[in-house]
Amino acid sequence: MRQTGKVYLVGAGPGDPELVTLKARRLIGACDALVYDYLVNETLLDWVKAGCERICVGKRAGFHSLPQAEIEALLVRLAREGRSVVRLKGGDPFVFGRGGEEALALRAAGVDYEVVPAVTAALGCAAYVGIPLTHRAASTAVTFLSGHEAPDKGPCAAGVDWRAHAAGGATLVLYMAMGRLEEITGELMAGGRAPSTPVAVVQWGTTPRQRSVNGTLGDIVRRVEQGGIGAPAVVIVGEVARFGDTLAWFDPVI
Ligand code: SAH
Repeated sequence: MRQTGKVYLVGAGPGDPELVTLKARRLIGACDALVYDYLVNETLLDWVKAGCERICVGKRAGFHSLPQAEIEALLVRLAREGRSVVRLKGGDPFVFGRGGEEALALRAAGVDYEVVPAVTAALGCAAYVGIPLTHRAASTAVTFLSGHEAPDKGPCAAGVDWRAHAAGGATLVLYMAMGRLEEITGELMAGGRAPSTPVAVVQWGTTPRQRSVNGTLGDIVRRVEQGGIGAPAVVIVGEVARFGDTLAWFDPVI
């Protein structure tokens, strides 16, 4: 009987291929099967060895080309065929990436796995627009929040208490929030954040397609509309967002 393979849940980082870890690069180059989704930079897919099977299970808001349960079943099946499998996920696998669900499925099936962390979108985007998320004197905390409330997401995402987070005073970084930006910014202001609070929205951060707009809680919805900015994007809320005006350095080339 063939030995059971192994699944590596690997973070692909936010986009710039040079932001992936050496470990991610080594594992991609060595695997027999690469299972990836749409936020992964295509450059990484070319690192595979000859004969590696590449399987896209692409996902975007409101559209899942392969249901989560089938992705999990696929990973289990590939490993049971004795293959070394890289499950490549955008950003970090354990930050809003359903990596936890995949790890649980592998554990339940008795399949060996490893998790390879990566630069999550919040950190990549903040760096590439010059926003120090916890700049001294401006912020002592940063909170990552999901703005997505899909019914299958469970109680965590559905129950974000925006007003409570507004009151906390931390820098907030919102993932998957573009579809509900008006509602969320309204809740943050209702929770006590001033309409003048600086906000930055970064789309396709760290890639040649990066675009961003700066504004305030009070006017960011209008600016985003004017700029035609949409998903994938992160929204950075807090005094630190002001530094983007001074510290931005990345010049995307399209
Ligand atoms: N695991 C990923 C997040 C997956 S959820 C991570 O750690 O980054 C998908 C969301 O991540 C998108 O809707 C968007 O909010 C954010 N995102 C991912 N890549 C991004 C990028 N290059 N620029 C801006 N936002 C990005």
